[in-house]
Amino acid sequence: MLGAIEAGGTKFVCAVGDEKGNIAARVQIPTTVPEETMPQVFEFFKQYDIEAIGIGSFGPIDVNPESPTYGNITSTPKKGWRDYPFVKAVNEAFPVPVGFNTDVNAAALGEAAYGAARGLDSCLYLTVGTGIGAGAVVQGRLLQGHSHPEMGHILVRRHPNDVYKGKCPYHDDCLEGLAAGPAIEERWGEKGINLVDRAEVWDMEGCYIAQALMQYILIVSPKKIILGGGVMNQTQVFSSIYKYLDEQLNGYITLPPLSEYIVRPGLGDNAGITGSLLLARQALQVKKLI
Ligand code: ADP
Ligand code: ZN
Repeated sequence: MLGAIEAGGTKFVCAVGDEKGNIAARVQIPTTVPEETMPQVFEFFKQYDIEAIGIGSFGPIDVNPESPTYGNITSTPKKGWRDYPFVKAVNEAFPVPVGFNTDVNAAALGEAAYGAARGLDSCLYLTVGTGIGAGAVVQGRLLQGHSHPEMGHILVRRHPNDVYKGKCPYHDDCLEGLAAGPAIEERWGEKGINLVDRAEVWDMEGCYIAQALMQYILIVSPKKIILGGGVMNQTQVFSSIYKYLDEQLNGYITLPPLSEYIVRPGLGDNAGITGSLLLARQALQVKKLI
């Protein structure tokens, strides 16, 4: 049995399952402070005979195994979680191999193995929710270097009608600052869910996401792009993305038909937790090799 934790800013999803990504049981636990959330996480796993645990976490996180702070959540503004030694805490409760990566890298892994990018050795998973983040599988492996990618904070050109200042606490009008759920809400004065009939909202949203996708395509050239997160429930954004991407690329490169290339998650809401199970499987395999 493998364990998986999808650690989000509002909730933790914990699951147990097998190495093929099949989920046998799952629970949701609210994300409050570690002293409250983590004991509930451990209670859930204690019911099972767990061989390894995979964690897909909100970030930024330290994923460099050489680093003295490997396994920590790092500079999050979320109260109580800054510098939280996530892997160490899990390892103290369960002395088993632990895989640790970002929530979006886990989702990319899940989608590459069993979702919309099944059978492909590369894909990019972008979430547009409370924040914006992306993970990528390249040549069958998660994209990672000095640290994990932070693709949500790239710079984009402003839509000519946009005078909103931007909401990113670090950069104001980076992609996340202009296009994540809270930016939509502050710019238009309503939550996204209540703006369904305002075409200009989703046109602008598509303009920003298309620009970001163009950068990712030009740099990483993924074989499939998967868009998840609450904001992407507004499926009208997709047509805006296709329109702007087509305009911006201007025929420079040939892509598959955009409606097949840029899609919703094949695993629905289970992309992250399934990928976290796969992180557990990887951690176990590494252990067996050693
Ligand atoms: P989180 O990012 O916290 O894991 P979500 O992916 O659901 O959770 O993102 C929440 C953000 O997405 C909020 O800003 C919310 O207003 C927005 N959102 C959620 N559902 C919708 C929807 N159906 N339409 C538009 N915006 C939505
Ligand atoms: Zn930013």
